[in-house]
Amino acid sequence: MSQNPLRPVLSHPSIAIDGPAASGKSTLGKKVADQLDWLFFDTGVMYRAVTWLALQAGLDLNDQGAVTALAESCVIDVLPASQEDGRTSDLLADGQDITWQIRRPEVDANVSQVSTYAGVRAALSAQQRRIGLRGQVVMVGRDIGTVVLPEAGLKIYLDASPEERARRRYREVIGRGESADYEHILQIVMKRDQIDSTRAVAPLKAAEDAIVIDSDQLSIEQVVEKTLTLLSEAPPAG
Ligand code: C5P
Repeated sequence: MSQNPLRPVLSHPSIAIDGPAASGKSTLGKKVADQLDWLFFDTGVMYRAVTWLALQAGLDLNDQGAVTALAESCVIDVLPASQEDGRTSDLLADGQDITWQIRRPEVDANVSQVSTYAGVRAALSAQQRRIGLRGQVVMVGRDIGTVVLPEAGLKIYLDASPEERARRRYREVIGRGESADYEHILQIVMKRDQIDSTRAVAPLKAAEDAIVIDSDQLSIEQVVEKTLTLLSEAPPAG
């Protein structure tokens, strides 16, 4: 076990970071996990992997039974990054490296629908909870503080306006050398917000005991700083 002096004594040694698409959750989660020497677990990659596999298999994404069966049978693995190409981890689905495929626009456009399926959520959140309960983990998603790991020692809900989030996503795509259209990205961000926050099972919302951070006017460094301060003030175990 590392002697990292930053490591907090939380009621449960875990941090839940939830929030809407492109709010900066993953960047924040990765930086905080690195500081603490904890595991960074971005749960969205699992929903993205199922969506990619379903598209590849030519499934009708409206066919809830078929998509759920796929989610129940595929083996999704998140491993330490094997390449220095900007990835924070490797994503394997049935042994295939699909780290970058899951970031494609067709996955962005369909993942929220796949995530509404109760069977898909049951299959994936059980795996997520098992990993979260081991502790020393920073988990990022939509329902970590509310459903997957309600005992998390610190819960953050990271928000930002749709326009700011679309701008960030636009810069990210352009930064990867791909072409992008801001208006189109904004439409998709708003559509995903709408689906994620109105679905029947585990909708996107802040847990009652989550601390809401609005990052519109904050740099990522300021958000990390704020989170580390919150950690040092969080109620300890016992
Ligand atoms: O965070 P990211 O944008 O990669 O997540 C992709 C999609 O997966 C979200 O739009 C949401 O529909 C779904 N998701 C979810 N619950 C989580 C994580 C992601 O429903 N815990």
